[in-house]
Amino acid sequence: MANDCIFCRIAAGDLPADTVLETDELLAFRDVAPQAPVHVLVIPRRHVRSVGTLAPEDEALAGRLLLAARSVAEDEGLLESGFRVVANTGGDGGQSVDHLHLHVLGGRSLSWPPG
Ligand code: 5GP
Ligand code: ZN
Repeated sequence: MANDCIFCRIAAGDLPADTVLETDELLAFRDVAPQAPVHVLVIPRRHVRSVGTLAPEDEALAGRLLLAARSVAEDEGLLESGFRVVANTGGDGGQSVDHLHLHVLGGRSLSWPPG
């Protein structure tokens, strides 16, 4: 775990979070500054910096992250209305926390393209 990484600390239970899904490998919790009625972050417990640092051996993890995002959307009642899954990556991608996370957003009509 990276001690200075906020999401590693959440995954370790050192910082509180409003958790909605948990496995030995993944964690999903509500964003502290929600941009939509439903705004959940899905993270691997293991520190992976971003989509940009995923390796071929992370194939199964990446798949399970996406399936966890789908599961969160189902639990939040978003499957029919629709939702968005976003992975901001690096500077131009607007990533502010350098621990891989999928945003699951829904509960309102979301504009496209984002700003
Ligand atoms: P990014 O900008 O890296 O794509 O997304 C990081 C997200 O993490 C932001 O939406 C921000 O609100 C959220 N965030 C930052 N710090 C915390 C925290 O301590 N707890 C929770 N639940 N969310 C956080
Ligand atoms: Zn981390």
